[in-house]
Amino acid sequence: MVKRIDGMLPVMEQFYTLQGEGLYSGQAAYFIRLSGCDVGCHWCDVKESWQIEDKQFISILSILERVAASNARIVVVTGGEPFTHDLSQLCLELSKSNVRLHVETAGVYPITGHWDWICLSPKKFKPVLEEYYQQANELKVVIYNQSDFEWAENQAKKTNLNARLFIQAEWSKEPEISMSLVTFVKNNPLWTLSVQIHKYLAIP
Ligand code: SF4
Repeated sequence: MVKRIDGMLPVMEQFYTLQGEGLYSGQAAYFIRLSGCDVGCHWCDVKESWQIEDKQFISILSILERVAASNARIVVVTGGEPFTHDLSQLCLELSKSNVRLHVETAGVYPITGHWDWICLSPKKFKPVLEEYYQQANELKVVIYNQSDFEWAENQAKKTNLNARLFIQAEWSKEPEISMSLVTFVKNNPLWTLSVQIHKYLAIP
């Protein structure tokens, strides 16, 4: 049972940086990384986000103050799996500021809150809820091995036609499989290659 405290969310980290992936890659964005995820990707690069610690709960008000103090025009809520938590109040409060609200999710729990941009990053390890395929603005599939290309195409078939399609190498595998991604995009031009520029730049 996930712990809930009114007006608070468990934040693992928050920082102002550049979005490194997907359509908004290269644009400044304020990231709020929430704790809690039970999807269990074996290649996850933020395993420290899986557990929720009591000391991580902070007030939504303090998050708003940090966002306001930055110069951000885009706020990205990520995790962990952000929809482990009810994000209605966070969205409501942030929507009063002049920021776009983006979320990055594996799509395994119901959507809460209103979002300007939903990035669905489905994982093989837990099924995606149907509402995400209908509402996603962006589908981002991480490729770990060759069989993931076919899985990516199957995910795209389920996703609404307006969603942008991105394919991205799992970071530890990138040297080995990046050329396969290039070939895939050349053969399937509805897809775009997403490169994790924040990792190349060694920024958060
Ligand atoms: Fe890690 Fe994201 Fe997978 Fe959760 S869904 S295990 S945070 S990669």
